[in-house]
Amino acid sequence: MKIAVYPGSFDPVTNGHLDIIERGAQLFDKLVVAVAKNPGKEPLFTLEERILMLEKSLSHLSNVEVSYFRGLLVDFARAEQASVILRGLRAMSDFEYEFQMASVNRKIGDIETVFMMTANEYAYLSSSAVKEVASLGGCVKGFVPRHVLEMLIKKYKR
Ligand code: ADP
Repeated sequence: MKIAVYPGSFDPVTNGHLDIIERGAQLFDKLVVAVAKNPGKEPLFTLEERILMLEKSLSHLSNVEVSYFRGLLVDFARAEQASVILRGLRAMSDFEYEFQMASVNRKIGDIETVFMMTANEYAYLSSSAVKEVASLGGCVKGFVPRHVLEMLIKKYKR
């Protein structure tokens, strides 16, 4: 059984992430979407909110699970019996960081990283762009699922 882990902050999940997950789910027997509980980053949404958003968005995919991890991704992947890390690539600017992480994870965890190119329509899309637009009162319809849009509106109303 080929198991892959798709890690990220998902703060919040965007249609770009969902596109990678839907396409990735067809390549592996099981795909574990792993929300990073990174103490160094102060997220807009709590871990619980980010997990809930993903679960709501992915209920139609029977071989996709949502989980979370803290600490080393390679340790989490091993515990999940995953042999692959899945990541998405947008512009050239993603490349250097992803190249470094993939090399480090291969060295310390003996695990392969597989990259999927973004769909053209999501090439510009990032969680931080979504947050910036939403925080200024702009409309992010088409960038995120409807329930995420509602959560963003609620967050920024306070
Ligand atoms: P991280 O903080 O680990 O980069 P993100 O939630 O920002 O977490 O992204 C998780 C993964 O999804 C990364 O591999 C990122 O490159 C990819 N990704 C983010 N947005 C898109 C998009 N619009 N299209 C394709 N891949 C994307």
